[in-house]
Formats: sequence, structure tokens, C-alpha cells
Amino acid sequence: MGIVVPAISPAALAEVYAHAREVYPEECCGFLIGARDGVIDEVRRCENWQNRLHQRDPQRFPRDARTAYNIGPKDIAFADASFGGERPVRLVYHSHVDAGAYFSAEDRRAALFDGEPVWPQVDYLVVGTQGRRVTEAKLFRWDERQKEFVEVARYPGEEELFMSPGGHPNE
Ligand SMILES: [Zn+2]
Repeated sequence: MGIVVPAISPAALAEVYAHAREVYPEECCGFLIGARDGVIDEVRRCENWQNRLHQRDPQRFPRDARTAYNIGPKDIAFADASFGGERPVRLVYHSHVDAGAYFSAEDRRAALFDGEPVWPQVDYLVVGTQGRRVTEAKLFRWDERQKEFVEVARYPGEEELFMSPGGHPNE
């Protein structure tokens, strides 16, 4: 009854980190894709719609893209269509600007509808950054019993990720 954590290829993780750095100081968002029960090896970057929503209706969307992400309708439709296919969207990722990789109240709101997960088959990868540097990433999964997203895996920040085998980042 151990937790099965999906494997993410180092190249795909590096691509997610690159996306987070590029859009800093805004949050990036996107999908990680892979064969069912296989390694997750493909990244689909999504446009963060939060700025559009904020500009259109700041009452309803008080946050802009620096502190929130919103996946637009085209990418939502892509994910919905992928779930029945050979290579479904397996994870939704987004970054936090100058903050750690925790699952925020805002993230919870975005992932739930009526108290239930919008996409129950999908896990959420949150990427922490400090000044355009990725510090860590954590994977969260809906726990039906606790009715809460819980951390199921951690990934190193970019220094550790790109470090040569056997090397030490501080030497
Ligand atoms: Zn977040």
C-alpha cells in the first residue's frame, strides 16, 4: 500500500525549471505528460491566464500572475481530451515566485470544484523559486480520506539537479 510516485525524466524536470526561470517574476504553469504507468517525459507549457482575468475583472480575480496561475480554456480542453488517450496529462505544474514549493490555499481552490478534485487522476507539481533560481519542487496528490492535498515526493533545486554525478554544489 505504498505510495506510487510517478517518475519524471530529468530532461522534463529541467524544462519545467527553465519555464519557471523564464517567466519569473510571474508564475509559470503547464502540463507534464507521459505514457500511462511510464516515465513522464514531455512538457506542455501553458499560458498563464491570470493577468488577463485580473485585468478584465479585478474584483473577481484580485491576484495577478505574480501570485496565481490560471490555465486557459484551450489547454484545459487539451488536458480533458488527453485523459482517454495513450499519453495523458499526468501532472499540472506551476511555480511560486520567491516562495517555497508548498500547496497554497489558492492552489487548493484552483484544483477543487465543490470540494472535489477537478482532475482526480492528476498530481500537482509546485516549483519554488528565489530570484530566478529554482530552489525545490514538490509533488502533491489528493488524499480522499483526509480531503486534502498531501506531499508525496520532493525534487531537488536546479543546482543539485544539474550537478555532475558525484559532485558537491558547495565545493
Ligand atoms: Zn501555487
